[in-house]
Amino acid sequence: MMNLTILGATGSIGQNTLSIVDTFPDRFTVRALTGKNNLDLLARQIIRFSPDIAAVFDEDGAAGLEKRLPSGCRTEVLYGQDAYIAAATHPDVDMVVSAMVGGAGLLPTLAAIQAKKDIALANKETLVMAGDLVMAAARDNNVRILPVDSEHSAVFQCIAGNRRTDLQKIFLTASGGPFLHRSKSDFASITVEDALAHPTWQMGSKISIDSATMMNKGLEVIEAGHLFDLPHESIEVLIHPQSIVHSMVAFRDGSVIAQMGIPDMKGAIAYALSHPERLPIGVAVPDFPGLGSLSFASPDMGTFSCLALAFKAGEVGGTMPAVLNAANEIAVSAFLERRIGFDQIAGVIEGTMERHQPLMAPGIPGIKDILSADMWARKTAQTLICKPKGKATA
Ligand code: NDP
Ligand code: MG
Repeated sequence: MMNLTILGATGSIGQNTLSIVDTFPDRFTVRALTGKNNLDLLARQIIRFSPDIAAVFDEDGAAGLEKRLPSGCRTEVLYGQDAYIAAATHPDVDMVVSAMVGGAGLLPTLAAIQAKKDIALANKETLVMAGDLVMAAARDNNVRILPVDSEHSAVFQCIAGNRRTDLQKIFLTASGGPFLHRSKSDFASITVEDALAHPTWQMGSKISIDSATMMNKGLEVIEAGHLFDLPHESIEVLIHPQSIVHSMVAFRDGSVIAQMGIPDMKGAIAYALSHPERLPIGVAVPDFPGLGSLSFASPDMGTFSCLALAFKAGEVGGTMPAVLNAANEIAVSAFLERRIGFDQIAGVIEGTMERHQPLMAPGIPGIKDILSADMWARKTAQTLICKPKGKATA
């Protein structure tokens, strides 16, 4: 029996994870769940899975959650950052599914690693912000980080059984999002609804916007660099609109191995939970004749400048990827709240990066440096958004 904590249980990855737990009750038990605003769903999940701990963001959230639970409910309701850490470090838990969205996932994930919990990692922002530090903590604590992001799960599956020294490069595939064939001059007219309508994947709102700008792929390049210890020159992004090839690896003899499947996150989540075993999760094998052709192309970094900004942040290193991530979170929230246009997202991020003096400490920036760069970038990006004619409106 594997005991699980699910950070971000009410989100898209969290719900998919719980549906796998529900299908295999003899294999998995949920010991802690966390959420933020969706108290109705979190209450239903608590009633169904009966965890020891449920953690929410603040006191009001905890009171609201208590009200929704039946009297005599055995689950202890906690709130605040300490509560998320308590969920992540629950003494009886074997694996933590890290599926909060954004920088909020970093500290609970790091605490879980320090408490020697294996990690099923969906929260890519953790590695973008603090990849060196997090990977070093995983090595020091002998913790496995099993990728949930579909591309990284694919690479993980493709390299299995091969020698690390034979690996030449990896190809991260990208659907290209809903605006693959739009020109940049059309970006100003894109609405929130257009941007949320991803052609192949069902996901939370932040990652859906990141996919539309292609920042998601940029974050994934940085994530892959850390997970597989590769320089960014060895990571190539390929546009593959069918989302059947989840990613590929090339070896030094020219041989390429791809991992394929229909786009359903249950595959990657279940693999992280059960590795090296595979579970019969009811996901169909692709109907290849029905699919017709699979296509691949290079991305247009001029149109999708967020991707270019992510490559740049990765190249600079130090605290710059944390700044990229924070500015992106602020810009995406502002777009979702209709305070800026889709065409202004990249400008906010670029303007914030231009104003940052990256900390390039010998070794790695510490957690305090990363958190202060993150906070600085959030404030700076907000200021740029409020300026009527700053870089944000370029
Ligand atoms: P969702 O927006 O669907 O869910 C996010 C979860 O995090 C919810 O449980 C939400 O709570 C919680 N949350 C939001 N803000 C905070 C906060 N400040 N503190 C604590 N908890 C918070 O996101 P997804 O499930 O789509 O994505 C989760 C992560 O997985 C992201 O990092 C994403 O990039 C990554 N990922 C997602 C994929 C997907 O298919 N969805 C694929 C690959 C990676 P509530 O809803 O209760 O407010
Ligand atoms: Mg992905």
